[in-house]
Amino acid sequence: MSKFWSPFVKTLDPYVPGEQPKLTNLVKLNTNENPYGPSPKALAAMAAEVGDNLRLYPDPNSDRLKRAVADFYGVTTAQVFVGNGSDEVLAHIFHGLFQQNLPLLFPDISYSFYPVYCGLYGIDHELVALDEQFQIRVEDYARPNGGIIFPNPNAPTGCLLALEAVERIAQNSPDSVVVVDEAYIDFGGESAIALVGRYPNLLVTQTLSKSRSLAGLRVGIAVGHPDLIEALDRVKNSFNSYPVDRIAIAGGAAAFEDRAWFDQTRQAVIDSREALSEQLRARGFEVLPSAANFIFARHPERDAAEIAAKVREKGVIVRHFKQQRISQFLRISIGTPEQNQALIDAL
Ligand code: PMP
Repeated sequence: MSKFWSPFVKTLDPYVPGEQPKLTNLVKLNTNENPYGPSPKALAAMAAEVGDNLRLYPDPNSDRLKRAVADFYGVTTAQVFVGNGSDEVLAHIFHGLFQQNLPLLFPDISYSFYPVYCGLYGIDHELVALDEQFQIRVEDYARPNGGIIFPNPNAPTGCLLALEAVERIAQNSPDSVVVVDEAYIDFGGESAIALVGRYPNLLVTQTLSKSRSLAGLRVGIAVGHPDLIEALDRVKNSFNSYPVDRIAIAGGAAAFEDRAWFDQTRQAVIDSREALSEQLRARGFEVLPSAANFIFARHPERDAAEIAAKVREKGVIVRHFKQQRISQFLRISIGTPEQNQALIDAL
């Protein structure tokens, strides 16, 4: 706290990201990064971008990247927004679409950045409890609201909501914006982007940080009706004209174009997830069914915080949340088979 802070800054309760340790010999299974590298074609495209052109500003509209996203999903570029990581895209969504008279709805257990954005932008919100199996109940969202947002698969549980259920949520609230945060959809779900042509209130966000292994590049996207995209553009152009730099435009577009690498690496993560889930169940853990690149697991007899501390002593980091209802769970990002084995050995 300092006398120079504005009163508003004193009220903020910022998000705390997972640890990025300075030690390099740790097995990092704590921030849902992809253990396989980015597409070699994306790396080549980025390397080619490093040169004299960097003295020039990037395309403020990121047209090349939008084109690659639009081609991948069979939508128009007017339906695509891109930003500096999906966190920034989400921030603009909260700012531009969720400041309404009725409360925003999101699950009690979900991405812990949502309440932070509500604090930043003064958005009234209500938490909707997941059921006993940690699932989203469609009926719970069928009530007056100023917007709805949920991750699918949910984070940090990894649980998937069927596309038909996502559609019913959008159908039930035609007068508010329903945002599906699909950061992890490529590891086992069907994207709701297939529905945006039919639901003008449906907006889908994704990230290149997970299934395209570009967390360090910071690229996120939103796909929806051009009117929703225009709102995001208005916010973006009132905040930062160039959130996506030249390297990110080139690398992001090439990553979308390299379907073979995308399919091969996400399948490897899915296979490892199933293998690790089995190994943990064999050791007595309860593992929630995951459609993401992480699993959410608890042991009936061992304290989660203690397990996290003990495996860290052995060089493996996993994520533990102190939050009610989930304080006995560990969120474990899927690593390579060798990294997963290191966790099993540490356990
Ligand atoms: N949504 C969810 C549910 C996430 O877990 C994350 C990763 N922390 C993000 C969005 C943001 O990802 P990024 O900013 O790297 O695109």
